[in-house]
Amino acid sequence: MSDDPRPNILFIMSDDHAAHAISAYGSRINETPHIDRIAQEGMLFENFFCTNSICSPSRASILTGTYSHINGVYGLHEPFDGRQTTVQRLLRSTGYQTAMIGKWHLGHGGNADPQDFDYWNVLPGQGAYHDPEFFTMGERQSYKGYATDLITDFSLDWLEKRDPNKPFFLMCHHKAPHRPWEPDAKHAHMYEDMDIPEPETFHDDYATRAEAAKVAAMRIDRDMRDGTDLKGSPPPGLSALEQKQWRYQRYIKDYLRCVASVDDNVGRLLDYLDETGLTGNTIVIYTSDQGFFLGDHGWYDKRFMYEESLQMPVVVRYPEEVKAGTKAEAMALNVDFPLTFLDYAGVEPPEEMQGQSLRPLLQGSVPENWRQSMYYRYWMHLDNDHNVYSHYGIRTHRYKLVYYYAQALGVIGSKDEDRPPEWELFDLERDPCELNNVYADPAYQDTIAQLKAEMHRLQQEVKDQPVEEID
Ligand code: CA
Repeated sequence: MSDDPRPNILFIMSDDHAAHAISAYGSRINETPHIDRIAQEGMLFENFFCTNSICSPSRASILTGTYSHINGVYGLHEPFDGRQTTVQRLLRSTGYQTAMIGKWHLGHGGNADPQDFDYWNVLPGQGAYHDPEFFTMGERQSYKGYATDLITDFSLDWLEKRDPNKPFFLMCHHKAPHRPWEPDAKHAHMYEDMDIPEPETFHDDYATRAEAAKVAAMRIDRDMRDGTDLKGSPPPGLSALEQKQWRYQRYIKDYLRCVASVDDNVGRLLDYLDETGLTGNTIVIYTSDQGFFLGDHGWYDKRFMYEESLQMPVVVRYPEEVKAGTKAEAMALNVDFPLTFLDYAGVEPPEEMQGQSLRPLLQGSVPENWRQSMYYRYWMHLDNDHNVYSHYGIRTHRYKLVYYYAQALGVIGSKDEDRPPEWELFDLERDPCELNNVYADPAYQDTIAQLKAEMHRLQQEVKDQPVEEID
């Protein structure tokens, strides 16, 4: 038993695991019993969003509590500057033992290496699924095994060896289920004799939508690479539709097999907490750095502000404060994580952190002035792989307004070619699948004016610079 009564924090984060591939979130395509267990014994967040839907930026926001334009990680190519104020530094300086194990993806060397962790053991860059190398406290080493199992092994090992007199903060970051979706032997044959249901929007034709949706290079039928993204290629003689369906099945099954291994490994960590009597005083979080398109809109990948990509799955268990089987409808963001952890640790959050502590929501109440809208920005304009336009926007509980400003603005990995800017508006109550852009509908003009004003207010609040907007 720890001398320090503050709770332990076990933060389990996977990479690109969309909420709609978690059964607690109503998945139609798989079962995740161990992640579900966290929800059943704790709280599930229904409206948890990332502020920039791509790997490195979301990770930087989770460490710093700041948006991309403040922490400097706009896309995949800016190394994180670890001299910034981070949650692990504040926790460590007040007596927590800290560890970062698994996918880091914020650069390597100098200020980009993990800092203020008592122990760190991270994959280089994206890392490999099979027999991966790790930077173990800076030293490159190869390990035999499967990344998801190894990351859990290292986490359990660190927990076992830690000083039990101090609380811990462990970030256990899986590589899975990021592409190239390589399952382990144990799950390689799951779903073999069945078809996974196709999403409702699988055959989206992008009518009514911005050019950005039409030109994005993330279509399952056109942009997936055989041999790397997909293991194999469609057999000869299939129609175009059959090829698309074949590709979806191949993709989604491998993705879900990787998820199944993540879920098993979540179970191993939960078992360890039970066996060592830590369950009661440990806050357990399961999340993913952003969402993902699972054939929705005919796509894979993320980046867009559309729901499947914007939403982060978040389930939290903390028996001392969080009522079992509850759901939070209030809006929460990735920048809220560090403030939440500091709140539980009794540490005053620094001025520069931009999120809110989620502790009141976890305790079952929504503060009167809680946010009713959120600001999003994706910066990498026309990146080589996915061709998505840079955009920003606002989401409220009912609406989503998106502005594709479509300029590089010097962001690394962007192509310096402007595209005509465009707006999209979705009425999520009437159109939850976001198929019908109603920006030009006269009935919504008052709503649009209000949303724009609110978006500009949010930009000011988070200290972002808007671009010049057309109507
Ligand atoms: Ca990711």
